[in-house]
Amino acid sequence: MRRNRFISRARHQADADTLAKLARRLSESGSRLEDRLWERRLVELVNDRLARGFGDAVEAALDELSTDHPRAYDDLADLAESCAESAVVEIDGEPHDALLLAIPVLAWSRYRLPATKLSASVLENVLTQVVGHLAPRGARCAVGDFLFSIDQLPESLGEVRDVAEQMFSAAVQDGRLKVDSKSLREPIAMLADARYLLAAIVVPQASPLFHWQQTGVDPDSKISAISALREQLDNVLTPVMTGCKFRTLAPGAFHAALRQADRELREFSLEAAVSFLKLSFDLTPSVLQATIAPFEEKRERSSPEIRIGISRTSEDDVVIEGVVWPLLGDDEERSIEEIEAALRRLGIVRLVSHAHRFPMEFCDDCGAPMFPNAAGHSVHTEPPDDGEDQPSAPLH
Ligand SMILES: [Zn+2]
Repeated sequence: MRRNRFISRARHQADADTLAKLARRLSESGSRLEDRLWERRLVELVNDRLARGFGDAVEAALDELSTDHPRAYDDLADLAESCAESAVVEIDGEPHDALLLAIPVLAWSRYRLPATKLSASVLENVLTQVVGHLAPRGARCAVGDFLFSIDQLPESLGEVRDVAEQMFSAAVQDGRLKVDSKSLREPIAMLADARYLLAAIVVPQASPLFHWQQTGVDPDSKISAISALREQLDNVLTPVMTGCKFRTLAPGAFHAALRQADRELREFSLEAAVSFLKLSFDLTPSVLQATIAPFEEKRERSSPEIRIGISRTSEDDVVIEGVVWPLLGDDEERSIEEIEAALRRLGIVRLVSHAHRFPMEFCDDCGAPMFPNAAGHSVHTEPPDDGEDQPSAPLH
């Protein structure tokens, strides 16, 4: 899918340096007027590089800024993400604004979560909901005919731009994008995870993108529009999500919607783990305890995460289910308080928090994360053996 790239290293580096320089100046700017000027130059450059398939230069500039210039990094990242997920599209010689949207769906199941092609009728229904609840009058919309897992979505800025352009062409035509699913990776099996629909809205340049932005429409009608869309999509997706408990989230611009889903998935995963233990093994929250501990990679500057090991109250060694809570830039102490509150809401009141940091360990055989037990060790989960339709232990 990616365009061929023939660009010299020197040229690539020069581009990255220029982008980093402009981003540093933008981050120091003290007025909207200055902001706008730097932003315009950055947007032109980023768009030009993305359009020519040189998204790597933008990623290199971000790398360059990531260690010493956090504000400039954030400014450039925001701007580059926005450039990748939107574009100006010509229709009959007239410029149009086009935005790529994602609609996240949180789901959990005792069986494999679907990541699948949508039937023609489901696709039609999703498109109807997007047109009816999100888009302004006369907008052109599109929906992709696939329910994606996170690792099947475009990742780099260049990949996002490529998919955005396909969606925008589909919006100009009949609104239905046939996704080439042969090249998609098989998703990693998780008890709880997010799935995503992709959509696009195309409107005449500088006119409202969403229904609630139109003149004469109450801006607060956004709230009812989003909740109606979520409710309708929950119905529309029911045949796709057989055997799953799921919840459609609010749609948003591609990158923002993915971030929001990552946040909401954390507490949803805790709920899923507790419901799963109740449904599959008849273990109620009152006979469970949770151990909470920070995990960190020693060498690299990867972000730490909190892992939660769930055990029976009588067993301090055996972890029967685990949940990973990535920090996503949040404060660690506050996150631990948030997790404790979430566990209490779910009815688990016996909580153990370890202050010491665990190494970020995964199982050598199956790649599953290791979880903390109450005794203070990091262990592999072992499902309880009294379930009816579950294997009694990991298969290795
Ligand atoms: Zn394993």
